[in-house]
Amino acid sequence: MKAQQQNMFGGSRRLQMNESIDLTIRSLQAYGPTHKHWAIAWSGGKDSTATLTLVVWLIESGKIQRPETLTVLFADTRLEMVPLMAAAHDIMDNLRELGIDVRVVMAEMDQRYFVYLLGRGVPPPNNGTLRWCTAQIKIEPMEAELRQLFAEKGKKVLMITGVRQGESAMRDARIVMSCGKDGAECGQGWYQETLPTSLCDTLAPLLHWRVCHIWEWLRHWAPRAEYGDWSTEMVAEAYGGDEAEEKNARTGCMGCPLASKDMALENLTKRPQWAYLSPLLRLKPMYRWLREPSQRLRQPGGEKRKDGTLTANQQRMGPLTMEARLSALDQVLAIQAEVNQVAEATGRPRVDILNPEEEARIRELIALNTWPNKWTGEEPRADIALDTMYSDGSVWPIFDFLKSSAA
Ligand code: SF4
Repeated sequence: MKAQQQNMFGGSRRLQMNESIDLTIRSLQAYGPTHKHWAIAWSGGKDSTATLTLVVWLIESGKIQRPETLTVLFADTRLEMVPLMAAAHDIMDNLRELGIDVRVVMAEMDQRYFVYLLGRGVPPPNNGTLRWCTAQIKIEPMEAELRQLFAEKGKKVLMITGVRQGESAMRDARIVMSCGKDGAECGQGWYQETLPTSLCDTLAPLLHWRVCHIWEWLRHWAPRAEYGDWSTEMVAEAYGGDEAEEKNARTGCMGCPLASKDMALENLTKRPQWAYLSPLLRLKPMYRWLREPSQRLRQPGGEKRKDGTLTANQQRMGPLTMEARLSALDQVLAIQAEVNQVAEATGRPRVDILNPEEEARIRELIALNTWPNKWTGEEPRADIALDTMYSDGSVWPIFDFLKSSAA
């Protein structure tokens, strides 16, 4: 057995599908019985959907011992790809028919993506200091639900995640859990890394799976009656078909402002049956537009810390103007209406990224003149030229700047 295991991870032969499943069974048999209560963190993406459907099938078919309770926590960011959401709803129906406790985990109203962006006026997230989205719309709601679960069960649960490193990373011992590494979904690594160990222990039973096995399971095994009859083909479709599958594709929120390209959505909308989602491709350019100085305010200079000293980043750009927020709100509503008009006429899945309650809350926050902390709305617009102030308090008058630019 030892020699065979060495071969699996380090030798020339790649893991076969049955061997991958067998290793998953063994990991669940080894660690599963240590906890009475299991939970599955499910993002709706390929890795966590494969994990969820496989684990439930293994339990239902008696291949692993049934835990006392199983709770499925579906993370709804409100921005998931349309086919993923459609598949998730079908899968949730199946799970409920099996008597499994399924909970939809969503951020509180004011923390949701569009409410925070357009109601509070915080600019779109970026890869630098303003990376507010993953924690706020994925991790924190999951943590809150986990706290609730812990209170209900009175003990730690075993949290099963879809973290997957694949064979090569296993071989290289590069088990780095981060957002979006090696084709993993945004948030998956974070679930493994950041969920409090006081509330749960985590297990990633598909850690060793190669991406081709994920596709194989979602496309050809899981949809069969003998493996649970799951609607997982649509999950594979969300990644844009065979070409994307070869590339170890990943997907996150539609229009993710942190991704360089909206690859998954672009690939998806090339397919005739999903072409009606094309208006959603306008989200990403809209975020770029929102980041421009003319859509934002700027600190006028002289901003101080609590101790009275000047902050390092004088005249920093900040929140979105009210005009920009209202314009973006109209754009999002128009995109959604355009998609849903075709969806209704053709019987295709609808998009739901901004519901009437969220729209009403955004308008209410705007009417209440809501700004992020340390901003009042009285600051100048960021495209208005000002004297430049430095963190030591020195000022370079705009007139001198213009003279030197002209020279
Ligand atoms: S997919 Fe993009 S927008 Fe969504 S939470 Fe992750 S980084 Fe943020």
